[in-house]
Amino acid sequence: MFENLSERLSGVFDRLTKQGALSPEDVKSALREVRVALLEADVSLEVARDFIKAVEKKATGASVTKSVTPGQQVVKIVHDELVGVLTGDEDPGRLKIDNPPAPILMVGLQGSGKTTTTAKLAKRLKEREGKKVLMASLDTNRPAAMEQLAILGAQIGVDTLPIVKGEDAIAIAKRAKTQASFGGYDVYMLDTAGRLHIDAELIAQAAAVRDVANPRETLLVVDGLTGQDAVNVAEEFDDKIGVSGVVLTRMDGDGRGGAALSMRAVTGKPIRFVGLGEKMDAIEEFHAERIAGRILGMGDIVSLVEKAQQTLEAEQAERMMKRFQKGQFNMNDLKMQLEQMQKMGGMEGMLAMMPGAGKMQKQMTDAGMDDKVLARQVALINSMTKKERANPQILQASRKKRISAGAGLEVAELNKLLKQHRQMSDMMKKLGKMGRGGQLRQMMK
Ligand code: GDP
Repeated sequence: MFENLSERLSGVFDRLTKQGALSPEDVKSALREVRVALLEADVSLEVARDFIKAVEKKATGASVTKSVTPGQQVVKIVHDELVGVLTGDEDPGRLKIDNPPAPILMVGLQGSGKTTTTAKLAKRLKEREGKKVLMASLDTNRPAAMEQLAILGAQIGVDTLPIVKGEDAIAIAKRAKTQASFGGYDVYMLDTAGRLHIDAELIAQAAAVRDVANPRETLLVVDGLTGQDAVNVAEEFDDKIGVSGVVLTRMDGDGRGGAALSMRAVTGKPIRFVGLGEKMDAIEEFHAERIAGRILGMGDIVSLVEKAQQTLEAEQAERMMKRFQKGQFNMNDLKMQLEQMQKMGGMEGMLAMMPGAGKMQKQMTDAGMDDKVLARQVALINSMTKKERANPQILQASRKKRISAGAGLEVAELNKLLKQHRQMSDMMKKLGKMGRGGQLRQMMK
């Protein structure tokens, strides 16, 4: 899976990580190569462009630690960005199958691997979750397809709905439902008819079956070897029928794999599984971290940079504490704190981690403290000069006007920020005194 892309990228990054210093041009030319590699893997043009833009932006803003090289830092940024575009479902392997018998609808073009995938998933449900599964083929045009499902069922020890000649897809779906209810099945899987191309009849039939079965999951099976076509097919199916997830098959080949990277960004639908061969066990859940790791193949560097970043953050925090103790708390410190809050998922993210957060959240929103405020405050600080950030007391009317205009905001908003900074600064001074053996130590005696 992803061999070609992986090879190309490791070539680029091997060279980059070996260099001690990197100029912006070095990074730019490496990213140009990454872009070409992505396009050659058949990643969509927009996804590739956005990807490179995001990496470029983060690479220029990254705080550099001494313990890692800039090249390693770039690898980590690319890794994180890969995880970002690959991330779809938090728990891709968990199919919604409560309330038995739960119907799962399988849709896709002929030859995509739909029948094979139906059986693979049935086997997983049976073996991993101990579910009793019934499979039914609705492909009345192709008796061979119905036979194929029956053969696979026998092979994996999963029941299939007996074939009744002359029945239409809707009748089969209804019979499957009845049999699943009376037979005590947990899940019944409906393998719909496929065609070589999306046409009106195919869609009409899948939609009709959907309306009868009311599936908990509608999984679209697409051939990963077809690259961007797979993404286009997914877009159309989702548009016309509505799918809950995608299974990308034939990812075992040395195909270009780009569909995996574009799928979520273009269709908004998560990839839930990937097919990795013809055998019944050749299916895997689609986990962004794992896949990104495989594509990049630089897990060591990624964890090295992660550790260095943690150390850097600890050092920054310590430096900040020292400055607070001396009664120094300037706009750079405030900015760092605001950004830290944003990183933690903003107010909502932070509050969600605390017990009794609901009430507090309302209070904070009432007090005008929400995520938009955070972003505006950071914008205000960004529009200050270095000197102003270090000494906010020099801000007079004309400077204030320039700063707020630069952030596209009112002076009143800047005044609020300055007031907040003053209050925090006072508090820091008090804390600092306590820490230096003043009240705090006395209180502990
Ligand atoms: P359907 O027409 O969509 O039902 O497709 P099938 O399930 O009949 O699959 C068509 C062919 O693709 C069969 O020979 C399968 O064994 C093969 N196939 C399905 N999934 C995969 C996969 O993930 N990898 C590989 N290499 N072959 C697959």
